Amino acid sequence: MGAPERQAIIDLPAIFHNVATLKAMAAPAKFMAVVKADGYGHGMIPVARTALAAGANWLGTAHVSEALSLRAAGIGAPLMAWLHTPSTDFGAAVAQGIDLGCSGWELDHIAAAAREQEHPARIHLKIDTGLGRNGSTMADWDLLVARAIAYQDDGLLRVVGVFSHLAVADEPHRPETDAQLQCFREAVAIAEDAGADLQVRHIANTPATLSRPDSHFDMVRVGLGIYGLSPFHDQSAAELGLIPAMTLVTRVAMCKDVPAGQGVSYGLHYVTDAPTTLGLIPLGYADGVPRVATGGPVRVNGITYPVVGRIAMDQMVIDLGPTGRDGFSAAEVPGSALGAAAVLFGNGHDGGPLVERWAEAAGTINYEVVTRISGRVPRTYI
Ligand code: PLP
Repeated sequence: MGAPERQAIIDLPAIFHNVATLKAMAAPAKFMAVVKADGYGHGMIPVARTALAAGANWLGTAHVSEALSLRAAGIGAPLMAWLHTPSTDFGAAVAQGIDLGCSGWELDHIAAAAREQEHPARIHLKIDTGLGRNGSTMADWDLLVARAIAYQDDGLLRVVGVFSHLAVADEPHRPETDAQLQCFREAVAIAEDAGADLQVRHIANTPATLSRPDSHFDMVRVGLGIYGLSPFHDQSAAELGLIPAMTLVTRVAMCKDVPAGQGVSYGLHYVTDAPTTLGLIPLGYADGVPRVATGGPVRVNGITYPVVGRIAMDQMVIDLGPTGRDGFSAAEVPGSALGAAAVLFGNGHDGGPLVERWAEAAGTINYEVVTRISGRVPRTYI
């Protein structure tokens, strides 16, 4: 069997490199590799194993179910999950030694699970320092800390961490990060004064790890960076010393000569202005390529072409050009393009397109493009 005709190639040595690079930057702080959302689309288990091999001390997920999948794969490293509902299986989390983020309401549920499991739960109290999502407000913080310490005194919980999440760390000039860090220091001091014996204080995501050494505290929680992507508009992954780990590649499925005036794809919003050759690319929105990303780049035989017309469920079209568009010789087109590798994005080392061009075409961020590449696209690990 040959290579899959449509695949996301995941470069595990690149992930290893990115983890090692970012960990060195954050040292002496510990390093949590954030592997939620199926490792940002890269595959949670292989990414987790690679990150640990590269020196990650912790793994982080949003959901307990994700952390349980890591344990089921035999991963024994420290794990933390931070986004719960009253239906979350806290008992399984306690039984499997998964640390739990706690914003407030979860406290009684986690303590009940610990009582049932006859095993203390390890919790990290979350303070909302300004993001306005989960986490306790500062107004409720003293009470939450007091309640958690009371459960700790009863032997049901251990308050091992205090954490928060930053709102604008990807825009380093904005002042709100300073205010969030100040609030975080105050929340930590309150917890410690109340008797919490904290092992880890953590707030930094990828952009803060890269740009705010004063945010590192005892541990950084890094997602995007380990996948080799930049959180900043004005700095590329290469400039940060990171290697993009996902290459989305397929093969040209058909080449077809059409006359001037040919409408292309649903809605016929693109109409050829001269006789030309169209190339069919067998990826679409069911594969996670954003439907709105007309104009996104596809590289074939060393030339990058924009997608023309609407992106459909399974396919999209590039205009290979009539007479040497982008330096491509029309005479070479039909024979050489059919079956040729078509790269939507990759590591850019050969001058090929980066995922940020797709993010731009879709009006979104690189996080979303890689995370949404669907399960229909096989992952190949190198
Ligand atoms: N910490 C928390 C609580 C998160 O939700 C996330 C991701 O959204 C991260 C850390 C990692 O962020 P980033 O991918 O920017 O490193």
